[in-house]
Amino acid sequence: MKIHEYQAKELFRKYQIPVPNGKPAFTVEEALSVAKGLSDKGPWVVKAQIHAGGRGKGGGVKVAKTMEEVKTYSQDILGMNLVTVQTGPEGKTVKRLLIEDGAQIAKEYYVAITLDRAVSKLCIMVSPEGGMDIEHVAATTPDRIYKEWVHPTVGLRDFQARNLAFKMGFTGNAFKQCQDILKKLVKLYLENDCTLAEVNPLIQSKDGNLCALDAKLDLDENGLFRHPSFQELRDLNEEDPSETAAKKFDLSYIALDGNIGCMVNGAGLAMATMDIIKLEGGNPANFLDVGGGATEEKVKEAFKIILQDSKVKAILVNIFGGIMKCDVIAKGIMGAARELKLSVPLVVRLEGTNVEMGKKLLEESGLKIITATGMKEAAQKAVAAVEAH
Ligand code: ADP
Ligand code: MG
Repeated sequence: MKIHEYQAKELFRKYQIPVPNGKPAFTVEEALSVAKGLSDKGPWVVKAQIHAGGRGKGGGVKVAKTMEEVKTYSQDILGMNLVTVQTGPEGKTVKRLLIEDGAQIAKEYYVAITLDRAVSKLCIMVSPEGGMDIEHVAATTPDRIYKEWVHPTVGLRDFQARNLAFKMGFTGNAFKQCQDILKKLVKLYLENDCTLAEVNPLIQSKDGNLCALDAKLDLDENGLFRHPSFQELRDLNEEDPSETAAKKFDLSYIALDGNIGCMVNGAGLAMATMDIIKLEGGNPANFLDVGGGATEEKVKEAFKIILQDSKVKAILVNIFGGIMKCDVIAKGIMGAARELKLSVPLVVRLEGTNVEMGKKLLEESGLKIITATGMKEAAQKAVAAVEAH
């Protein structure tokens, strides 16, 4: 689960990681009143809060020297459609702002933590070349990014923190501050079940002190039950409405770019179905795992979600009737197809217990259902159905 920068910074404060003073604002009036509660003379920074980075370059981060400018920038940014390298060309509408004190930046650095699955350890990455061009640094001078791997039960060791702070080029008090921040960030990451923590930039200000100017945290959905209070950090405006609807019915759904809607039970079978569609020259419109107990209600909701995507030109149902028998699944599919008046071709491949009975039901249903035996045939028929559509 992604959260906003201002929410991440709240968590940073709890761990005593230095961040600028600031608060969120939902209206221009609120933005002005937040700014008035911050430093007297400014500058203040008006920052778009969306679940995507690259805001600075997209025009979503502005430094205001006067209250008048706070007002103008807040008016400009609130409600704007912000397009950044991470939002895709359609952009995202800005509904929240963060108003914070402007920092006097001497130099920008990069710090990030994520899980390195290959070695089952956290990977901490730092670079003295932080700021808005870290992707460029990674592409052109990857040797300027330094890494340490941290065992999750041991945490960041002193020598590792020293090593990283040294590679970033800090000396004196900043050298100590940097180690302190890195340790606290690892602690925060572990205690809150994060999947990503990124501070870009971490800055050294002109007075020599370090401060996290940007804060990005992704939280592990599977760890959320351990942090009930994080539920209120969720911003449904920022999430795909189909994925939100799917969660409500316990369906794992991820929207993709293709045009063949998939309904499958089991994540492995769902992945294999997507693969075979590709192999046959088609493109899956989604990943959808209806889970073990594919009840009629779930199947219906799954169809609804798939059909909300206007790109879908055919649907491929690939279900293995293990616990659920194929005839029961067939009835579920028929019920849903009738109720929703399916307008796109539907290819169904069933396998497992009572498969013959299930197929017979589908064939005699009077519905325009294309049945298939085997995955290859099912994928071929779905691709053909798209081409004919
Ligand atoms: P994004 O990563 O989405 O572009 P950032 O929060 O990193 O957004 O902001 C972009 C740039 O704006 C930063 O690299 C920094 O130079 C500047 N900036 C951000 N916050 C502040 C601040 N409080 N004071 C001064 N400059 C800031
Ligand atoms: Mg940033």
